[in-house]
Amino acid sequence: MPFAYDTQSNLVMAVALVNTGLRRDGSDALATVDDLDRFCREHGFAGRHAGDAAELAQVHQVRERLTDLWSVDRDRAAELVNSMLAESAAVPYLVRHDGWDWHLHATSLTAPLPVRVMIESAMAVVDVIRSDEWARMARCAAEECDAVLIDLSRNRSRRFCDVNNCANRAHVAAYRARRAADGSEDDARPQP
Ligand SMILES: [Zn+2]
Ligand SMILES: [Zn+2]
Repeated sequence: MPFAYDTQSNLVMAVALVNTGLRRDGSDALATVDDLDRFCREHGFAGRHAGDAAELAQVHQVRERLTDLWSVDRDRAAELVNSMLAESAAVPYLVRHDGWDWHLHATSLTAPLPVRVMIESAMAVVDVIRSDEWARMARCAAEECDAVLIDLSRNRSRRFCDVNNCANRAHVAAYRARRAADGSEDDARPQP
């Protein structure tokens, strides 16, 4: 594991958030307050959650700022993360809650949800930057897919996102290419 567990889970959360806006079909997977409720449940955001349109709009702004991190280099990312941390006066502290052992938080559970989403993400990105693992902040290798990913694999082998079915699509395309190269169009051709 390249990062501590809480860092990894927050990176996965940040990727999931960014990718709600990068669906292949152009839809927004975080279009409604219900979508945001589901996101909070899936990523374990207990604490304050207004569940209204204003909060959703603020989460959309956070999503845009986090999305930018995948289009900049490591030095610029450090600047962006620093401004996120500074404007919300993040104060790191260790906490143990809901069955989770000691891990790092930088905002109180009573802070607004959009702030917590941004700061938990920023704190995780801090680890990626300072351990010089920026290359793990990658974009899906599939053509026509803009989704982002965090490569947590040991050998840095991850290529595809997990929201647009790209690994499977690439697998099928490679299979078809092999079949075409064989001169065989018919998948049902009997084996020799
Ligand atoms: Zn926690
Ligand atoms: Zn993809």
